[in-house]
Amino acid sequence: MKSAATKNAQWIKEQALALGFLSCGISKAGFLEDEAPRLEHWLNTNQHGEMHYMENHFDKRLDPTLLVPGAKSVVSLTLNYYNSEKQTDPNAPKISQYAYGKDYHFVIKDKLKELLSRINNQIGAVDGRVFVDSAPVMDKVWAAKAGLGWIGKNSNLLSKQVGSFFFIAELILDLELESDHPVTDHCGSCTACIDACPTDAITSPYQVDGSKCISYFTIELKDALPTEFKGKMDDWMFGCDVCQDVCPWNKFSKPHEEPLFNPHPELLQMTSSDWTELTAETFQKVFKDSAVKRTKLEGLTRNIEFLKPVK
Ligand code: SF4
Ligand code: SF4
Repeated sequence: MKSAATKNAQWIKEQALALGFLSCGISKAGFLEDEAPRLEHWLNTNQHGEMHYMENHFDKRLDPTLLVPGAKSVVSLTLNYYNSEKQTDPNAPKISQYAYGKDYHFVIKDKLKELLSRINNQIGAVDGRVFVDSAPVMDKVWAAKAGLGWIGKNSNLLSKQVGSFFFIAELILDLELESDHPVTDHCGSCTACIDACPTDAITSPYQVDGSKCISYFTIELKDALPTEFKGKMDDWMFGCDVCQDVCPWNKFSKPHEEPLFNPHPELLQMTSSDWTELTAETFQKVFKDSAVKRTKLEGLTRNIEFLKPVK
């Protein structure tokens, strides 16, 4: 006979898939012993750059039971955002495809809340919290522990079935659930991401210096972009997909089925000169509810200016 922990775990996974999540896996909540020295080294060597928020909540980052008292299980979920359509002008400044449509935080949070509500209706009073890239949770580590993929040399979570173009989110619950097992690493001798990174941010396999990454420069960095990286940005104005685009496992990516992730109809057609002449009106229109709003018009304009060659 199946235990309640097994039955509940299966039921939660079925509900997650019904809500449109790509995959769902479970791990036992507890201290991430192996991660503690890695996180400490990453912070001590300033690989987080100006992302000072990463220094906060060190203990909570490593132990979800400090974040959610009584936590017993971490339910990791992924949601596909792969878009087979790309920007049409090859000379236009580029946007990472995760930001094409509506801000994923809102889309995923709604789905997670619905999942938690279904759990409460089906299983009984379960205390839990939902997390989408918004609190100190090491989402890739938990997803890897739960068998949803392995953390590749480019530090993304990779799956043999679907590659890496997906978001990761969590439900942390005070409910005992059957845990899943990690999968093996399939990077092998490949170094495509390391070789292709325009700023050499992947300093060695599995080691990304966040303070050299184009995503950090174009989204997180509030100051002027460092001049030493001028000419090395590979035309990215918001985020960077290079280390995912070159990854052989992304041949298996399939287009997402979430209408809210579709770009504004004009976004992909905008030409290089449309971007150079970007107005507040167009910015509001094409990035309505988008994660790109985070940089505001001024930030995006700064990034576009930085891409121009020196005369
Ligand atoms: S996102 Fe771009 S800059 Fe950052 S590590 Fe990957 S390839 Fe390098
Ligand atoms: S490009 Fe190659 S080394 Fe990099 S993450 Fe993908 S499989 Fe691993």
